[in-house]
Amino acid sequence: MPHRKSYFELLEPNYLFPQVKARAEAFAKSKPEVKLASFGIGDVSLPLVSSISKALEKASYEMSLSSGFKGYGPEQGYLWLREKISDEIYQNKISPDEIFISDGAKCDIARILTWLPPKTTFALQTPCYPAFNDAIHLIAGKQIQYLDCELLTACPIDIESISADVLVLVNPNNPSGHLLDKQVLQSLINQSFKNNFIILYDSAYQAFIRDENYPKSIYELEGAEEKVIEISSFSKRAGFTGLRLGWSVISKKLRYKGCENSPVDDFRRLIQTLFNGASYLSQVAGLAALSEEGLKETTIQLNTYLHRAQILAKGLKQAGMQVSGGMHSPFVWAKPLQSQLSSWQLFDYFLHELGWICTPGSGFGKKAEGFVRFSGFASQDSVDQALSQLSSFDTFNFPKEF
Ligand code: PLP
Repeated sequence: MPHRKSYFELLEPNYLFPQVKARAEAFAKSKPEVKLASFGIGDVSLPLVSSISKALEKASYEMSLSSGFKGYGPEQGYLWLREKISDEIYQNKISPDEIFISDGAKCDIARILTWLPPKTTFALQTPCYPAFNDAIHLIAGKQIQYLDCELLTACPIDIESISADVLVLVNPNNPSGHLLDKQVLQSLINQSFKNNFIILYDSAYQAFIRDENYPKSIYELEGAEEKVIEISSFSKRAGFTGLRLGWSVISKKLRYKGCENSPVDDFRRLIQTLFNGASYLSQVAGLAALSEEGLKETTIQLNTYLHRAQILAKGLKQAGMQVSGGMHSPFVWAKPLQSQLSSWQLFDYFLHELGWICTPGSGFGKKAEGFVRFSGFASQDSVDQALSQLSSFDTFNFPKEF
């Protein structure tokens, strides 16, 4: 082997969610009598809706016939799916040849970072989905500007100070659950022209936006096509965390600094080399998720998760925490009103005292120390358990130390 890549030194030994899982498993082993309620890892808990599973059954049968078998598909994804996304998600403002179907948003984070030049610098919100921090460290090294943000929302405080080449924006935010409004988004796009950065926009939770006053797509805003690369996913909108499907938008209006080559052509060239296209079955399932019936069924599922998040938010607030989220996102982001416990101490408190598994906020950025995240993707059983426990006391009794 050559030497170890020094960038590994920049990472924690384990990614956040395996750490949470390991601690919860160790606790479960030592206290098998405690009933656990899981609000930790943000994985979906409801099964695929029937329009999607029927489409999968039909497509897998087709694959067993000489006439229906499919080998490698187009690297960019089947045109019928790109047309459907263009129509359903972007009202045809983004054309199918600007849409790149992926095997999930996380994989495209890696591909997009590989595409950008090695010395590219990045600005991150706090709190922020940790894959961005870790992937930038692994692929690009240390070049991250951690923006000062309002910690309850992840909204950047001083946008004029953004000095990186790329601003990473997760909206609705994971973990804060906060949704930036049109005005803030437009001012960030305007600033990207002034300070010469682009926005890498993660809209994995876009399907949870319910309020008509908020833009559903960033491309509704002026100048966005020239400045925004969007990464999105079917994981949370339709329960595809196991199936794997997502997409990215590389607009034809994007321009490199100092050369006329087309970013769309280059990204296509990159995926021709690094990716052989998403699975045909997942793409068929994605088409079904965006059909009339699929949208109807998945909206019911998403509303269920939102409802669970809202119940959690209300309970946590009544028991003495300040909270955000749960309105346009399945996540509830919380901090005790009165306690100096660190995020991992809070994690231990909830696990040991109540059997609840949450996610420590410091895993979403060092400055988010003292916060924890609860996920509305939890099962109904977990939510019911938490509700019944909450009804037996007025406020959390956080110790000074844990
Ligand atoms: N982006 C955000 C903000 C996420 O929270 C997640 C998963 O939790 C992903 C991307 C990953 O999505 P995918 O399952 O499509 O890789």
